[in-house]
Amino acid sequence: MDIYLVGGSVRDELLGQDNVDRDWVVVGATADEMLQQGYQPVGKDFPVFLHPESKEEYALARTERKTGKGYYGFICNAESSVTLEEDLMRRDLTINAMAKTADGVIIDPYGGQRDLKAKILRHVSPAFAEDPVRILRLARFAARYPDFSVAPETMALMHSMVSAGEVDNLVPERVWQETERALAEHNPQQFFIILRESGALEKIFPALNRLWGVPQKIEYHPEVDTGVHTMMALQQAVVYGATTDVRFATLCHDLGKGLTPEQNLPSHKGHEERGVKPIQEWCKQYRVPNHYRDLAVKVARWHLHAHRAAELRPDTILKLFKGLDAFRNPAVLEKYLLACKADATGRLGLNDKPYPQVAILRKAFLAADNVSTQELQAEGLQGAEFGAAIDNLRVAAIKIALQR
Ligand code: ATP
Ligand code: MG
Repeated sequence: MDIYLVGGSVRDELLGQDNVDRDWVVVGATADEMLQQGYQPVGKDFPVFLHPESKEEYALARTERKTGKGYYGFICNAESSVTLEEDLMRRDLTINAMAKTADGVIIDPYGGQRDLKAKILRHVSPAFAEDPVRILRLARFAARYPDFSVAPETMALMHSMVSAGEVDNLVPERVWQETERALAEHNPQQFFIILRESGALEKIFPALNRLWGVPQKIEYHPEVDTGVHTMMALQQAVVYGATTDVRFATLCHDLGKGLTPEQNLPSHKGHEERGVKPIQEWCKQYRVPNHYRDLAVKVARWHLHAHRAAELRPDTILKLFKGLDAFRNPAVLEKYLLACKADATGRLGLNDKPYPQVAILRKAFLAADNVSTQELQAEGLQGAEFGAAIDNLRVAAIKIALQR
């Protein structure tokens, strides 16, 4: 049997980047031979094994044939006669379809090195169309390698896949998995931009797709277009080192603007609350973890409050903190503030604009959170009375802290 390194680690090594996730392909072996050598079988669909010591993945070379719609309709052939070239052909992109021998020789039948040099994401064969996950993967690689472009014929193929309804067969969990991984990359906005270009975003995330073409007031938004603004805000969240939950919240903060009645444009009064339902629906559809959803809803609902921090009355600031549930979960305040700052600076020409609102709201929260409840307890207050009394103390503390 012959063993080759394949996939992402070959690609990233040629790019001069580290990739700890190493995949191997085994040519000329049977599953029984693998088991005899101590490899442990994993997965029921494909003949994939874990190395007895390194635990890295070793897959028998295989070909795949599409038999039905969707994710499950594949027939796989992993007989020992399958060649390396045949195995590489079923892979998604040319830059992912290279192998390396133990002696360090690169085997590259489909022009992966050429496309790496030219920075092009290109499909290996028409079989690309058989698996819509490949659209998501390609968009994710665009987020990881932002100076790469998509080959025109690959974009055309993705268009035809979308038109053929392939994207409707995506498994929801997989959509979220790829989205979350894309959010963790350096240029997550590229993921959404490429999906939009291919037509897939309209199917996968129509509430987001709808933002392009929606105007905003030019005094606040020199970039005007809401989709463009959303992508700029997401990029700012990355610049600030935001975690993926904050990035997701930033992505979703203005979804309500896609639902503004035509006659109100370019004003978006009430878009905060209108944005809540589309977030909840999308998160439900794609089984997004609750902590992502909850933060996104809070940011959508409250982001204008942060922008107005310098003018808010102390009791309104308290209402904001309670709305965020910040007294029980103080970490949420920082996440919220980061998303709001990304929104404020993710606008044309405003990337470096200071956002003093963060300091104001931090100060107010510190004061409100420090209020002592001992006296109230000593007075024997309970339930709603206790709640009202502590609210009063907190408002008074915010008032003093901000001298309002
Ligand atoms: P990463 O750096 O994110 O691990 P990767 O390219 O190694 O990127 P993996 O998911 O580890 O991605 O997959 C390993 C290889 O398997 C890919 O490089 C590609 O050749 C192939 N592959 C994975 N998923 C698909 C798919 N859905 N369709 C076709 N080929 C795929
Ligand atoms: Mg990999």
